[in-house]
Amino acid sequence: MPPAAVVWFRNDLRLSDNPALVAAAAVGAVIPLYIYDESRLARRLGDASRWWLDKSLRRMAADLAALGAPLVLRRGRAGRVLNELLAETGASSVYWNRVYDTPSVLRDSSIKADLRSRGVGVHSFNGSLLIEPWAVRNKAGEPFRVFTPFWRAARAQIEEAEPFAVPKRLRRVEPTPRSEGLADWQLHPVGPDWSLGFHDWTPGESGAWSRLTAFLAGGAKGYVEARNSPALLGTSRLSPHLHFGEVSPRQVWAATIGAEVMGDIDQNQTDGFLRQLGWREFNHHLGYHFPKMEQEGFNSRFRDFPWRDDPAGVESWRRGRTGFPIVDAGMRELWSTGWMHNRVRMIAASFLTKDLMADWRIGESWFWNTLVDADLANNVSGWQWVAGVGADAAPYFRIFNPVLQGVKFDPQGSYVRHWLPELAGLPDRYIHEPWRAEQSILAEARVRLGVTYPAPIIDHAEARSRALAAYERSV
Ligand code: FAD
Repeated sequence: MPPAAVVWFRNDLRLSDNPALVAAAAVGAVIPLYIYDESRLARRLGDASRWWLDKSLRRMAADLAALGAPLVLRRGRAGRVLNELLAETGASSVYWNRVYDTPSVLRDSSIKADLRSRGVGVHSFNGSLLIEPWAVRNKAGEPFRVFTPFWRAARAQIEEAEPFAVPKRLRRVEPTPRSEGLADWQLHPVGPDWSLGFHDWTPGESGAWSRLTAFLAGGAKGYVEARNSPALLGTSRLSPHLHFGEVSPRQVWAATIGAEVMGDIDQNQTDGFLRQLGWREFNHHLGYHFPKMEQEGFNSRFRDFPWRDDPAGVESWRRGRTGFPIVDAGMRELWSTGWMHNRVRMIAASFLTKDLMADWRIGESWFWNTLVDADLANNVSGWQWVAGVGADAAPYFRIFNPVLQGVKFDPQGSYVRHWLPELAGLPDRYIHEPWRAEQSILAEARVRLGVTYPAPIIDHAEARSRALAAYERSV
């Protein structure tokens, strides 16, 4: 019997460019393992993430079986599950790709120390980032807190290495270890199944590659111009695939640079796109170095900020019933598809934290539950950036005007009309502010404000002054 190794999959649900899998397969037989261990995660997976995980694991299980080594699914504390599997199979080592949120880092360090103390080999790799958080430091040897200098330093250090191919074959152990059934984990929603609007997504490695290739052949060519227009398919929509590791950032990087070298995409477009991957790197850098960010605003000046308690306002926001069309369209897109365009995420988050002055953590947790790309580092940083309380935040006095943002980024109102069909008949001029339309225009468009679509729940100008005054008292 060749030596056997457990490959513990986490946010790296792919077979290509998977350094842990490649290294284990080179040594002997492989036991692929996924542990559903909610007890030690930073927090329970959101509902939309559970939906995605279900499909992604199914896909990867089929791919692994085709290569010869079936996926073992187990629930429970990771350390205990690993010990049981090692005892059952006689495997002598464990391989994994690293994750960077604090609870996972603590868990992995303790598991590593325990296994090594008992003579089990432990090998961990970078499979999820272009550059790991400890590898980039400023001149003073400290972590960066501002994106642009971070990206300048990080980009110069990124090694352009060829991504790993899928191992041709995996040797399996006999007998095949017991696996739980995915259906028993009940990750897919039942009674009611609210995921019907998620049909455009194809979780799994091949779905990730379809997205990436389609993007490089199309949207990427005009990314810089289109990325802020929510009505266009102007961005890659790779975020859930990247979060679950169905494609690695190295693969995205290599494919993008490859398309540029072939002359398919101009360099200013690829630079713009790769810079967004840079934001992903930066957020993981911040999350790793400043673990308290997961709970409280990075900027201590706003720790005692007087967030308002407004359950009715928050509920209107969650349901997409604020009366501000661009905000409501975004919230309905999120609810139906598990995703929201980045520009609209910023507008919706600004509305919650600045117009309603609700605590950013309320919005962060709603996004966490409803986004298929929910990612602790990106979500926390995104919310803190918009709320003005983060490391490299938008200045607190930048308060998005939902009407002007709508007019600028959805000038024909196509995005709003798609998600708010009850407003579809309004002329462009009023699509972002239906309350300004005369009664006859509303009647012709079959809009009854307060009945078919809400009247604005707040006066933006007053809300803006209130927020500015509160922020100014805190600085
Ligand atoms: P593209 O424009 O095609 O970008 C390519 C990739 O770069 C993305 O897939 C993503 O991995 C990364 N990226 C792009 N923009 C950002 C950004 N601003 N910050 C970090 N990474 C970025 N992104 C998440 O992945 N998970 C989250 O939970 C999340 N929550 C957010 C919350 C708020 C309030 C805001 C303002 C932004 C949030 N983002 C989050 C960032 C961003 O909105 C999404 O990554 C982006 O919309 C995904 O769409 P895309 O894949 O088409 O992006």
